[in-house]
Amino acid sequence: MQATDLIIILKNFPKRHIFTLLIGILLIFSLSHIGDKEFAKRENLPELKKPIELGSLKQNLDIELPLLEKEKVIKRNDSLFGLLDELGVLKEDIINLVNSKDSELLSRIEVGDKIKILIDPQGNLHQLNYIDSIKSGVRAEKENQNYAISRYESEVEKVKVFKHVVIKDSMYMSGLRENIPDSVLMDLAYINGWDIDFTHDIRKGDSYSIIYEEIIIEGEKAFDGDILISEFNNDDKRFVAVRHDINSKNSEYFNLDGQNVKKAFLRSPVKLSYISSKYNLNRRHPVLHTIRAHKGVDYAANRGSPIRATGDGTIIFAKYNGGCGNEVKIKHSEDYETRYCHLDKFSSRAKVGRKIKQGQTIGYVGSTGLATGPHLHYEFHVNGKHTDPLKVKFPNASPIDSSQLSAFNERSKSLMSELNNYKSIINQNKVFDG
Ligand SMILES: [Zn+2]
Repeated sequence: MQATDLIIILKNFPKRHIFTLLIGILLIFSLSHIGDKEFAKRENLPELKKPIELGSLKQNLDIELPLLEKEKVIKRNDSLFGLLDELGVLKEDIINLVNSKDSELLSRIEVGDKIKILIDPQGNLHQLNYIDSIKSGVRAEKENQNYAISRYESEVEKVKVFKHVVIKDSMYMSGLRENIPDSVLMDLAYINGWDIDFTHDIRKGDSYSIIYEEIIIEGEKAFDGDILISEFNNDDKRFVAVRHDINSKNSEYFNLDGQNVKKAFLRSPVKLSYISSKYNLNRRHPVLHTIRAHKGVDYAANRGSPIRATGDGTIIFAKYNGGCGNEVKIKHSEDYETRYCHLDKFSSRAKVGRKIKQGQTIGYVGSTGLATGPHLHYEFHVNGKHTDPLKVKFPNASPIDSSQLSAFNERSKSLMSELNNYKSIINQNKVFDG
């Protein structure tokens, strides 16, 4: 092929493709300058993730090839070698890996574990890290043709972090200013969300103190762990939540009396009623006569029957609203809301921003809005999504098991005194500051 032919071919190429082609040519050139030895030598892996710049590539063809980091979480029916294929690893390298000494360390994979690989644009696998817990895994490192495979254990440390925050605007913003990580503040909102509505209840001067963990792996902070204890002072009320492992896999938060911070729900909002229509995404609407999803449960009852709040919470809506008629909405936590439609009348308690206790009457059964007869249309929302109230798995709100109570009391006492020590140190410092 002559140079003129090449120019004609390039002219007929879209610009984007020419660019890709040039990068390809440059990569091939640079490849020939890099020996296998150099790859094996490199140890400082984070350096390799730096993006490559075309400008510098042109000037210096000796530059190292960029290695891409890819990762995947193991799902059901996955095989490690299938996953490597999916991630673009060359068949040859997969075979080399299988044939390497100690490759049986990689033969058992479990759902939820993670693999991380370092691969070059040609699909050569440079490193594989099979992570089966925050502490351990199996690492495979390319050495000439084969891989050096070994199990590793990381040194993991947990460090307690103390924070005390006086709220100036919102719980969240005030926490961020004290350098509390986002994930910890989300947890704090979740833990206390059953008692405090963070949009309506927070007063200037409210405060909270927490102890949470930082996870340190090999001497470096890896991520933020869990809140161990939180104390929230909201408008003269005090809420304490202590984390407790109920078994090796699950932890829950309890107050100092051993009550779960999560609250239970009643299964039915109306006594002496019967279910006249279930949750059904393909229902023909009785008034509109069209297919309209029925995203709640209807309880037929006599007009005027009292409607009970199915859980503790805050009223966040109470007025007439189109097809729903007279509507009440209750926020129970950061995740849970319930909605009540077609009310004949509201109870005097049904005022936006007002606290409601489980079982208290919020209104009376009627047929306001789009309804053929008196009934309550009841919806259950989890994380903003409609959920079948008859099938939803309610949060576990059981108190601490009596067999674990004394261990819990001991632990919560010691955490509480740690928290108090910390607060008194802070207060002393305040005095010294003048
Ligand atoms: Zn309905």
